[in-house]
This record gives sequence, C-alpha cells and structure tokens, in this order.
Amino acid sequence: MNGREVSVEPGATVAAVLDDPRAVVARLDGRLVDLSTRLERGGVLEPVYFESDDGRDVYWHSSSHLMAQAVKQLFPSAKVTIGPAVTEGFYYDFDVPRPFTEEDLARIEQRMRNLIAAKLPVVHKLLPRAVALDFFKQRDETYKVGIINEIPDELISVYEQGDFADLCRGPHVADTGVIGAVKLLSVAGAYWRGDERNRMLSRVYGVAFPDEAALKVHLDRLEEAKRRDHRKLGPALDLFSFHEEAGAGLAFWHPKGATVRRLIQQYWEKEHLAAGYQLVVTPHIARGQLWRTSGHYDYYKENMYFVPVDPEEYVLKPMNCPGHMLIYRTKVHSYRDLPLRMGEWGTVYRYERSGVLHGMLRVRGFTQDDAHIFCTREQVEDEVHGVVALSVRMLRAFGFEQFKVYLSVRDPAHRDRYLGSDEQWQVAEDSLRRSLERLQLPYRRAEGEAVFYGPKVDINLLDSIGHEWQCSTCQFDFNLGPRFDLYYMGPDGQHHQVYLVHRTVLGGIERFMGALVEHYAGAFPVWLAPVQVRVLSITDKEAGYAREVEKALVAAGLRADLDLGGDKINYKIGEAERMKVPWMFVVGGREAQARAVSVRRHGRGNLGPAPLESAIAQVKEEDNVPAR
Ligand SMILES: [Zn+2]
Ligand SMILES: [Zn+2]
Repeated sequence: MNGREVSVEPGATVAAVLDDPRAVVARLDGRLVDLSTRLERGGVLEPVYFESDDGRDVYWHSSSHLMAQAVKQLFPSAKVTIGPAVTEGFYYDFDVPRPFTEEDLARIEQRMRNLIAAKLPVVHKLLPRAVALDFFKQRDETYKVGIINEIPDELISVYEQGDFADLCRGPHVADTGVIGAVKLLSVAGAYWRGDERNRMLSRVYGVAFPDEAALKVHLDRLEEAKRRDHRKLGPALDLFSFHEEAGAGLAFWHPKGATVRRLIQQYWEKEHLAAGYQLVVTPHIARGQLWRTSGHYDYYKENMYFVPVDPEEYVLKPMNCPGHMLIYRTKVHSYRDLPLRMGEWGTVYRYERSGVLHGMLRVRGFTQDDAHIFCTREQVEDEVHGVVALSVRMLRAFGFEQFKVYLSVRDPAHRDRYLGSDEQWQVAEDSLRRSLERLQLPYRRAEGEAVFYGPKVDINLLDSIGHEWQCSTCQFDFNLGPRFDLYYMGPDGQHHQVYLVHRTVLGGIERFMGALVEHYAGAFPVWLAPVQVRVLSITDKEAGYAREVEKALVAAGLRADLDLGGDKINYKIGEAERMKVPWMFVVGGREAQARAVSVRRHGRGNLGPAPLESAIAQVKEEDNVPAR
C-alpha cells in the first residue's frame, strides 16, 4: 500500500493531488475513483497502476468503451449492450444486423487508434433517471433502456467521450489517449444475457496495453496458449473427446487419458490414506427429498438434473456432501472418534448453459476429489492446516509452482446475511489465515466473497504460461450441520455441533487434466505419461527383438508400446515425438545382436546406444512422483 492520508482544499481533482502520470485511476479510502473526481474531503488516496488487477480492469473496461465508440461511428445502426473487462482483456457485445468479420475488426481497430490520438476526455455524469432514459431512447439504445429499467437508482451514472456515451458505473481512465496499444482478437456469437432464448449478439474480444512491446509479449503468449490448448491437444494425443451425439459437456476418456487419470487417482489415494482419510462410495442418484433437506432443491435447482421415476422424483447428484452426511449420521460419534475425514471420487452432474461450456474446464459431468471433515472446535486449526498443506504439497508434486490464493470472508457490514455464529466465523477464518501464514502462501483477503454458510480458501493454479485454473478449495459449512443434525458427544456427555469442512485438492479431475495438458503442453513427466517408452523397430527383422524389449519394459513395471509398422524409422520417430512419448528405444540389427537399444528422449534427440537393462533402469529412475 502506497496510499497516503491527504487533506485537501475541497474541489481539487484526484489527478491534481496525486500528480502521478502512471496512475490509471485512484483509490480513495479503499474505493476506486476517477482521476477527474473532485475531492470533497480528505482521505487515504492511492494511485492505481495498470500493473495491478484493479488498474488493468479499469484500463480494459475503458478500452471496451473505446471499441464501442469506434463501432458506433462505423456502424451507426449497431446497438450497444455491455462490455466488461475479463481476465485476458475485454469484450463488448453488439446487436448488429450481421456479425462482424475480420475485415470489420481491422477497421474498428484503426478507428480506435484515431480516437486514442484524439485524446478525448472521458467525462462522468450523473443524470436524473428520466433524463437518462430519454437520452438512450433518443439514441435507440434499447438494451441500455432495458438495463436502466432494471436498476433502482434515482441518479444514473453515464460516461461520455466525444460523441459516445455509455451507461456505466465506472470508473474509467481520464482520456482516450491513456490507452496505448490495442488489438482486436476475435469475434464470436453470444446470446444477450447468456440466454439462448434471447437475440444472438456479436461479441468482439480485444486487449490493450500501455505500449506495443507489452502488447507483443501478450500476443506471443496467446499463440503459445493456442499451441497448448487442451481442447486441441486432448484429442490429438488420444486422451479424451467430446461427442455432440452423447451431449455437450460430457468427457469421454480414451485409454491413454484414462491411464493418466488412474495415475492421478492412485497418487491421490496414497496421499489421502497416509493423511488419515477414509474413502467411501455413494450413489449417483438420490430421492428429491434428500436435496430438500440439504437445501439444494431451493437454491441450486436450476443446475440439477432430475430423474422422474414414477411416483417419485430422483435427482442426479450435483454434490457429494449429502451422501457423506448420511454416512456420518449412521453412528453416534464420540469426540474421541473425531476428526473424521471422509473422501470420495464423487462423480457429479450439474447443468451449465451451453454457452459457458469450455473443453474440460467447464463440463456438465465431472468427478471431484471430494472430502468432508467432521471435527471439534479444538481440532479446526490442525485440520485446516492439514488440508491446505496437503493441497500445496500435491499440487507441487504435479509440477505446479505458482498459485493464486484467496481467503473469502464475510462482508463485515452485513453479518446478518450469513449463517453461523460470530464465534464460528472467527474460529474458521483464523484457522484458514494462520494456515496460509504458516505455509508462507501470499493470499488475497476478499471481504464479502464468502458464501453465506462459511469462509473458505481457494488455491488456484498458475500454469507454465500464467493461466489461472480454479483448483483446491477448503470451505467451512455452518449450514449442513444443523440441516442434517450432525453432532458429536463431548466429554461432558452433551451433544455438540460438529465443525464441517468441504475440501477438494484437485477440484474436478476433468479440469485438472485440462490444466496438466496445458501446463506440460501434452509432454507429461515420466511418472504421468500414458506411454513412457515406445519401442521402434528399424526393419521387420527386428520385430521379435522389439517385442522382447517391450515385454522387458512391462515386466519392469513401465508403460510401453510398440511401433512395428513398415514406415521409415525417421517417420516413426516423428510420430512418437508428435505423441510426446518421453522415451524412445530404437532397435535395429546391431541393437538386436548386442541386446541393446538406441535411446532417444522427447525433445532432446538421440542419446546413443545403451544395454537394454541399463536403458530400462534409466527410465525407472524417472518413474517417481517428485518428492516435495
Ligand atoms: Zn463502462
Ligand atoms: Zn461438500
């Protein structure tokens, strides 16, 4: 924090007081404000730069306004809708008679550059409701009129730059000249409000940076991301596929993908059994009544699949929790039995709109490495620490080194909106925070981001090119305990409410697989590679020996396959490289005679000949989960 207390003459602008040309916007007493804001009183004032998350958001959102202005100038009949900043830039959705084309994008981009050069001031106005409605009606901006009709505000916040005005809460950059370099990336169809019953809009994605060099770095990274995209690599490496015929958002794991999945699960089980978890299995469907008890029927209904079985309705489970609650409840638990850590590879189904489905990242059926911890107040701290430490250790073993960690807590101004007592929230939050501190994990504390039933920690992964993937979560629940009447007998012989924690280390295994594929660009480390060694024969004469080599590999506990095809050896090597098989054992007449192999390494080329036994030993040495 480089905020400083300022006391100012009322009427001075934030920009004048800050006097910092790098500031994109400012933060006054913790709230983002325009640089043009006139200060009415003193406070803690802080510059916000492009380099921060908030600064980037404002910069990109301002770029979306700039794009909308360019579009309106070039296509006056286009109707503007909304244009937010997103994690990798910004978009704006337009209602246009025909979708934009690549050529349109180039023209819009050029017009944006002209508007940047014009350095148009961005002006904030608060208009009385009726005036604002009239203003947008006259411009035939029906979407804006619709939005105003949905908000209760008496004064409507509008931002203007030159001939363009947008309904918007802001804040924004001071003028269009602040935007440095822009690039429009793509155009896609998107339904208004994401609802397929609404009109299809034309969504233009773009990104902006303070200078051309930073833009180029970003565009290069996007190219690299395309190369690593799991939606392309998954099928190309024969790992998984999706089928319209079977339904969107449902993954089919091929033998190679299923092998990786099994390896992940085996490692997971080993770690969890060692950490004192007990594994259970629960059914995929359950009576509607169970989901009424859990509350899902009331607040999660639109994501649930229903199985009407006359005369009763069943639900395809969207969550594993109620099943675990039922198992807990089959016994009276003494405080001596706790903590109880109940884990499951729980397959769940959740309806997601087709527009938000995205490869393995967002699916409709997935398997969570779910677990619930039932413990006493005194055990909370150790249990939470155990969960967070286990998550970090396992994620590091999979090769992830960088995380984004969020601690989501109550909105202190609205404590009444949350279930559970102040004491419970305090115990829970303290334990989460202390665990992050003990592990020296930098985190962001997000006030008001907790769900209504308890605080949580989320650990997201950053893959090797900096993409963020939702992953581990450790979440308190002050809701299900009372709903399912979960208690334990204390040393005083009385019933006590358990502390209940939901937690997952990998999240969904589908998404985790997507993250792994992109992190490694499909070139898995040896311990996770579906095929660790491919044996390639140079001619037909070595077929027998090649089979022997494969057998020896399998006997050594390795995953191997064989290419006995009639193609030239260079072609076969190219094929093995393309499939990113880490080791290749090439066998020709000389190797067969010497009981040797010619060793190649993916991406590294020829390592020369080696006796078969020592070549196998070399692979074996690498076939381990990295010790963390
Ligand atoms: Zn806006
Ligand atoms: Zn749960």
